[in-house]
Parts: sequence; structure tokens; C-alpha cells
Amino acid sequence: METKNAGLIDLHVHVFPERMFEAVWKQFDSFGWGFHREYADQIRQTLTAHGVTRAVAMSYPHKVGVGKPLNRFMETLGQPGTMFLPFASAYPDDDDFRETVDHALDSPHLHGFKFQPLVQRFDVNDPRLDYLYENCLERAFPITMHIGSGPVANEFVGIDHFRKLMRRFERLRVCVPHMGWTEFDEFLLLMDDHPNMFLDTAVINIIDQRIDTTYTVERERLMRHVDRICFGSDWPLIHYEYQTALDSVQRFGFTPEAYQQVMHDNAVRFLRIDRSVLGQTERTA
Ligand SMILES: [Zn+2]
Repeated sequence: METKNAGLIDLHVHVFPERMFEAVWKQFDSFGWGFHREYADQIRQTLTAHGVTRAVAMSYPHKVGVGKPLNRFMETLGQPGTMFLPFASAYPDDDDFRETVDHALDSPHLHGFKFQPLVQRFDVNDPRLDYLYENCLERAFPITMHIGSGPVANEFVGIDHFRKLMRRFERLRVCVPHMGWTEFDEFLLLMDDHPNMFLDTAVINIIDQRIDTTYTVERERLMRHVDRICFGSDWPLIHYEYQTALDSVQRFGFTPEAYQQVMHDNAVRFLRIDRSVLGQTERTA
């Protein structure tokens, strides 16, 4: 199969330093979620066992002063020969915010920014972030932004914040995880106006005793933007097996061609990764 040769790209994986991972798990455990406990090396093994050859690794600081050491850790994950394509984070309250942004943009081992306003609790339209947006626009540097209202919402997420942002930076290269859950229609519709907007499939079309995240937009409307939908798993911060994440993509009812795009090609375009970075994921067929 062509997809096998190309390898799969997972656009949404979480990797934290060990002590931070412990804190994240502890917090989720208190909600009774029971996520998988794997550190970077184990994550690599799990992904490889499922045919994934490259994965975007994301973390996020939740308080002042954590951003810089966290980005340093992320850079170590992105050394040549690894499967990880780490994203940086930036926290507007940090004194060295602009320096952090500049460093991430110039680092050969960092491939985008990750925002998690649900945990980080900042307004994505905070004017201090304009410096980051302007530079990302100029360089077509990707941002992944958890801005939908699922699984829970706070005052910093939701379609209104995102609409406002995209009105200000129309061509921002941005991926909205979870297909914009819970505002599926609104986020899909916004793609008509924003050619560099992508969605990832993490945690969508999962149906079990805990959740039902069935994608409700009709297939025909989804297919209009199928060249900007990317597979993501959210591994290891999910309560089901990796294979279930892969199976969830089948529920969209994509054609084989579209499936290939979603599992590999679209991510290459979002990330703008070239042949040298892509290495062995380059299609052989
Ligand atoms: Zn996630």
C-alpha cells in the first residue's frame, strides 16, 4: 500500500520532560481519565509499531519561566534521526517572550508553536502575541492552537476568539486540533476564507463508554477541505489504544486517495517539511 511506504504522520502527540509528565498525569488522574503513561522513548516505540514515521511532539508551559527550559527539552527531541518534529511554546507573560519566539523560529529542531489556552489561560488576541503572529506569517511557520470548546471550555477558547484572530491574520498557518470540537460546523466553514487553516482529527469519531465524539458535519462538506485535514492521535493523553485512534479516521468515510492525504500528505504541506527533514518518510512508490 502506498500509505505504508510513505509512513504515517501523527500531527498531535504530547511529549513532556518526565517530571512534567508526572504532574500532567496526576492532574488528569484526579478527573478519573487514566491516560497512558509513556515517556518519549516508549512513545516512539508505540508510534513506530503502528507505522508512524514522523510525529509532531507538543508540550506547553502553564506558568511563567517554564517556557525556555521546556523549549530546550523539545529541541533535544528533534535531533536528526528521531521521528519527532517538536513544536515550541511561548507564554506571553514571560519577560523573555520575544527572545523565546526568535529562538524557536531560528531553531533547526523546532517546527512550529503550540498554544493550549485551555490550560495556559491566555487570550489568543492578546496584543503581546502579535509579534509571534507577524513573524509566523512572514515565515509561514505553523501554529497548533487548541481553541475549540471540547472536551471542556473556558473563557479563552471558542470559535469567537479564533474568528477574531483570523480576521486580523487571515493567512496564518494554523491547525485547530480535534476538528474544532465542539463547534465542528463553524470551524469547517471558516476554512473557506483561510487557505492556511488546517484541522486535526485527534479524539474525533471515538465512541466508547466514556465519550462520543462523532463528527457530525456531512461528508460532502468535509470533502471540500480534505486536503487540509490531518491525522492526529493526542497520544499518550488518551484513555484508549493507539489502534483505536487510527480506526477513528476510517469513520469519516474518506476515499483511499483522501485517506492517504489525511494520514501523510496534508501534514507535509502544513509543516512545510522538505525532503531532507522528511528523510525516510519520503514516498517510495
Ligand atoms: Zn492534545
